Formats: sequence, structure tokens, C-alpha cells
Amino acid sequence: MLKLMFFIDGTWLYSNQQHLTEAFGQNFVIDYGKLPKVLANAIEQETGVGCDVVRTMLFGSNAIHYQMVDEHLVERRRDFFELLREEFHFEVEVYPIDYRGRRLRRKDRDQFDDFEPTEKCVDIALASQMLYFSAIPNAFDIAVIVAGDKDFIPAIQAVRKLGKRIVIASIKKSCPAEFRDRKDAQKLRDFDLIWLDDILDRLELKIEMRRLECRSPFHKGDKMVYSDAFIRKGRKFYCPSCIEEYNRLKERDVNEFVADGMLEHIEGMPDSGQILTGFIKRLHREKFYGFIQTTAGDFFFHLSDLTSMDFQDLEVGMRVRFEVIIAPDPSSSEKPNGKATRVELETELDSYES
Ligand SMILES: [Zn+2]
Repeated sequence: MLKLMFFIDGTWLYSNQQHLTEAFGQNFVIDYGKLPKVLANAIEQETGVGCDVVRTMLFGSNAIHYQMVDEHLVERRRDFFELLREEFHFEVEVYPIDYRGRRLRRKDRDQFDDFEPTEKCVDIALASQMLYFSAIPNAFDIAVIVAGDKDFIPAIQAVRKLGKRIVIASIKKSCPAEFRDRKDAQKLRDFDLIWLDDILDRLELKIEMRRLECRSPFHKGDKMVYSDAFIRKGRKFYCPSCIEEYNRLKERDVNEFVADGMLEHIEGMPDSGQILTGFIKRLHREKFYGFIQTTAGDFFFHLSDLTSMDFQDLEVGMRVRFEVIIAPDPSSSEKPNGKATRVELETELDSYES
């Protein structure tokens, strides 16, 4: 049995998604969970020896000091890294890219701004970990490097000098000549280079249609719905129409609830200790907090502010009653939200559901 250790340049793989889509002929979504297994199978075929994936490390980066309008992009990347850790047991190392208060996408920045975001540490981190594990007796037999950057050449050569075998997996349109050189003048590989382009059908994220129960309390009709959605471990399934409804409610202005007679307009600023009614506006399920909107502003609450119900049972759009700790401060740009406690569900949801 050969022990394989994976070293994936996540930033490179992420930014070459387009090349994979072109090679595939239609939008290609890589199944990261399958990636080590598929490459291990290819190595088993080449060596004729069974392979055991002992560790999968992915190195990536995420923005810091960016403008808050781009928070959703940073959040999406963070979620992706979490998914790799939770679903597939990847070891993910993430390094910051300083945007110095700018927007993340070039098209959103001033056209005369010559700022170039620079990724730090990612390549060196990959090289360091590979050398570190190479120096530990029996940690692995073959390092599988998923990358396309010739900066890795000295590290690869050093790993081979320590007696380890190297497999490189790369993408045709993003691979240095040294990696693809058949004569391997730089002495980088023990096996043929594996092109991800050639095994896309095995790497594609494919989920079969199956019947799932929509867990939204606002779902209308039969709760069992056919879906090919990817559901994370321990997460609930929401059908597309409930997600659409959720997004609509999230965008909904509090005055619309008032116009519908579902919420009362609050005169002036509420005092601490006052009991108010509002609607759940946003929920951060990972971090166990959320916001309630009222006509006096939004109130922050935490899991520990719930009286009787479970945080996981809360949904955006639910009507809740709560006690004010701190009133919102609309004049504050940093902390405009108030703080709520003793949050409980309003019992008469009938007006909403009808
Ligand atoms: Zn639903």
C-alpha cells in the first residue's frame, strides 16, 4: 500500500476554473471530495499498487481590509473552505490578501487605481508543508501536487532528494513547460503528468435527483420535493421556491410589513426593557446570531437571547417578540443596530401564513 499526501494549490485551481469549463464544453463544477480519490485511482492504475490517501492539504487565500459591499464574496470563499474541511476532511490553510480598503473586483475599482492585490505565503506554505512531511519518516510515499506554478520546482526537487516520489496533476492551459517536459530535464516527476483536463468526467460534481423534505415552516404544498441540490452535513434542505421566498423576505422593507398590517409602527425610540415585535431579517447560522427588523431599526440577537426555541428552528420572515436592551442608533455608522434579548416566537403567525 502506497501512502499518498495531497498538496493542492487552491488559489491556482480556483482561478483556472474557466479553463476546465472550456475543456469540458459546458459549465464545469469540480467535486473536491472526489479529487483525491480519482487521482489516487489513476496512480493505482499506473503503479499496480493500492493507494491510501493519508492527508489532503489545500492552500488558499481570502481578502482582508476590503469594502463591506463585497462581504458576500469573502463569505462565499470562507464557506467554500469550511465545506472542504467539514465535508471532505481537507486540511485548509488560508492566508490573507490585503485589499487596503478597496473593492475586490478590478471592474469595481477606480480605473486609474493601479493597486494590485498580492497573495502572500500560499506557495511557500505549500512547499514548506511538503518538505516538512517529507522529513518525517514514513509520513507518506508519494506527494501528489495539484498545481501549475514553476515556483514549486526547487521544493519538488528537494522532496525527491529525500527519497519521496512525486506526481504532478495540472491543467493544460496553466502549466509551465518544466512540468510538461517529457524528458523531465528538471527531474521533477516519478510518473507521467496527470492532466485534470482528461479526467473531467470523473471529477465533475454530479448529484442525482432524489426526494428531499423541505424544512421551511413557510413551505406551501407537499413538503417532499425532487432536487439535485448539494446538502451539507447536518444542514436543512430548503426547496427553490422557499429559497426565493427567503430572499424576497430578506430584501423586504419593514414598512411593507406595516402596510400589510403585520407590524406596528413604533413611535420614537424604544426604551430598554420595552417589549417590541419585529421580523427576523437575517440569520447567521454558522455563528448563531441574527437580526430582527422593526420600524425603529434593526436589533441584534444571539443564540443565548432565545427564551424557549432552538436557534436552528428560526427562519427569516418569522415574527418574534423581544425585550429591548439597547435601542438602535441610526446616526452611528459603526453600530447602528440595537440589541434584543428574551426573543420568542409570536404565536399568531396566521396572518402571515394566509
Ligand atoms: Zn419549500
